Amino acid sequence: MADQTLSCRDCGTTFTFTQGEQDFFAQKGFTNTPSRCPDCRTANRGSSAGRSGRDRQMTDVTCSSCGKATQVPFVPSGDRPVYCSDCFSQQRPNSGGGSYGRDRAGSGRY
Ligand SMILES: [Zn+2]
Ligand SMILES: [Zn+2]
Repeated sequence: MADQTLSCRDCGTTFTFTQGEQDFFAQKGFTNTPSRCPDCRTANRGSSAGRSGRDRQMTDVTCSSCGKATQVPFVPSGDRPVYCSDCFSQQRPNSGGGSYGRDRAGSGRY
């Protein structure tokens, strides 16, 4: 086997499918050659991951209030309690605020 020169089907750029990459593909069980250049492959992967929203990091945590296992879209720092979505909504103060100016709209719902 030797390096192959392929052309990207997206942008038409010729790129080298190296011996090492061919070995890597063979190990992965891929029998076809890559149809896109490395740039387009990277761009395609990045955009599709962002569009599907699956790149958001979810962390398994235990709710500090009810003890239920839940996930939060951030990494807890450890010095703050974390809550499940139910408890988080209950944590919001329903009185004593005033600085928000949403008192009328908020109290009208109950
Ligand atoms: Zn390309
Ligand atoms: Zn909870």
